[in-house]
Amino acid sequence: MSKIECTDKTINPLKVKGGGYHCTKTSEGCANCYAERLNLRDGFYAWANGIPFDDRDVEFEVDLSVFDKLPKTVPKRVFVQSMGDMFHGRNNPVDNNIAIFQAISDNPIHTYIILTKRPKRMRIFMRGLMRYEGIVDWGIDPYDTVKWIPDNLHLGVTAENQACADERIPILLDTPAAIRFVSIEPMLGPVDISQYLYCSGDEYRTPYLDWIIAGGESGPGARPMSPYWAESIRDQCKTADVAFFFKQNGVWIPDYLELPGGSNQWRRQRGQYRWVGTGDESVCMFKESKKAAGRLLDGQEYNEYPEVE
Ligand code: SF4
Repeated sequence: MSKIECTDKTINPLKVKGGGYHCTKTSEGCANCYAERLNLRDGFYAWANGIPFDDRDVEFEVDLSVFDKLPKTVPKRVFVQSMGDMFHGRNNPVDNNIAIFQAISDNPIHTYIILTKRPKRMRIFMRGLMRYEGIVDWGIDPYDTVKWIPDNLHLGVTAENQACADERIPILLDTPAAIRFVSIEPMLGPVDISQYLYCSGDEYRTPYLDWIIAGGESGPGARPMSPYWAESIRDQCKTADVAFFFKQNGVWIPDYLELPGGSNQWRRQRGQYRWVGTGDESVCMFKESKKAAGRLLDGQEYNEYPEVE
């Protein structure tokens, strides 16, 4: 079982030669990278290499055996490459990704979820696959432009703040994909994605994005997410009729919620609080455990997935 709430399994076919994983930090959302934290624990995890996720040169290789461990008859939602970014450019030749996409097409029973902070490289790659049909054999007519990209491939970008949303989402929308999604996690500020959820002026409101995932940050150094920001994303999705999945609050909860095992006063004295937001939507957030902060948003769980036609 994957620890990532909206998926069943996680596989990491892209590795560093000799062991471990690598990536390079590219935006604010990377500051407390979970994958880097695990990769630094050489000695604790046999597979970790202790290398920080910086700009150094490493040699990548592809381990396709991870596909062999997926169930053969039961369809799963498989998150591909939680330890890094498949579209990391430096030292990751395109042949690596072609091999991974070929393995995806050879195991069509599952739904594959691929997330990147480097949508330009993903767009070039996907357009390249379209142009040179036969590099990856999907088993479908490459000249049927609607059907060319299989439905079981979900491509997404991270948009941890408004600037990242405005930079990355238009590129995602310009990328060949059957299902496109955005992960607003860790949510670091208010984000307005309403213009990307449907064509303005389109009376049928044809969805642009098919799925939105949102969540707060967890782990050491986690930054607080205002519930107002998350509720706003939920409302934008509802208005546009787009599937919304709320992963977690992170490790901070607003002071107006009942706290298990401690009082607000106690936490205030210890400085375990932070104000986030502005004006009437300022909210005092208290540090909690991930478990206590939970997955409820406005008292409700949101576990929606995109519809695949
Ligand atoms: S892109 Fe992802 S894996 Fe790479 S450093 Fe940033 S958060 Fe970590």
